[in-house]
Amino acid sequence: MDRPTEASPAVVHDPEAFRAACDRARAGGRRVALVPTMGALHEGHLALMNEARRRVGPGGLVAVSVFVNPTQFGPAEDFSRYPRELDADVARCASVGVDLVFAPSAASMYPAGDQTRVRVGALAAPMCGVTRPVHFEGVATIVTRLFALAGPCVAVFGRKDFQQLRVIARLARDLFLPVEVVGLPTVREADGLALSSRNRYLSPADRARATAIPAALRAARALYAQGERGTMALLDVVSRGLAGSVDGVDYIELRDADELSIPGTPLPDDARAVLAVAVKIGATRLIDNTVLGEPDVTLD
Ligand code: AMP
Repeated sequence: MDRPTEASPAVVHDPEAFRAACDRARAGGRRVALVPTMGALHEGHLALMNEARRRVGPGGLVAVSVFVNPTQFGPAEDFSRYPRELDADVARCASVGVDLVFAPSAASMYPAGDQTRVRVGALAAPMCGVTRPVHFEGVATIVTRLFALAGPCVAVFGRKDFQQLRVIARLARDLFLPVEVVGLPTVREADGLALSSRNRYLSPADRARATAIPAALRAARALYAQGERGTMALLDVVSRGLAGSVDGVDYIELRDADELSIPGTPLPDDARAVLAVAVKIGATRLIDNTVLGEPDVTLD
């Protein structure tokens, strides 16, 4: 933790009150950082908050939004059972010195008559976009609304949701939003499993099987480090690493880390290629990734 436990953050529910707080901070010469979340906060989220603080300094305003955004869930997904625990989340925010928690209602973020959606093109189409067709439109729409309310700021996201980060960076650029989008490395459990609010759905046996995910990514990194550049071979080692441990594979993909296009094989020496997986363990869908061609402090 960067700062000792201290005063609880202010909690605002009203979008205009959130906007006013951010405007007031800037008018007073403070920089603003925003960390958008769906709550059920864990150490991965806290790492983003610590980075937010680092970026704006001790006098800056660190704001965390907690909102389970209905438009990014498909009809058969876990919207209704997604964990909601605002009081505990506010306490976690307090433990790292967050100044402001914005916890709006769905009705206030999508008021009556709402009919505007933000759709990002090719970056949102593959990978999670295939099986979750409405997901990124929902993400892009809510993040654009949060950015519109927060105003000029730095916004901190996790690379665990790699495709989401690329989509958000692109929409901020394409829409000339005054927001610097920052991506942070994935925070993992000691055995390598990426922290996720959805890990709590796993039974102990399923939790044990989930370690196959980081293990498979590590195996691919090891093969890459030995000089393998064939994309089929790299994908195959992940596939073999997951077989027998997971109940279903949504995708295993190797994509250009910036454009998410399919790279040529063999990978060129200067390639940065994201190796991304989405799997089912029991009824729980888990994602993870690593970028080949750059160090991964969380897996190496
Ligand atoms: P969520 O609440 O799951 O929507 O996530 C909110 C933010 O936290 C997103 O930017 C995620 O990428 C990020 N995040 C979630 N899990 C992790 C993790 N294990 N490490 C780093 N960032 C994470």
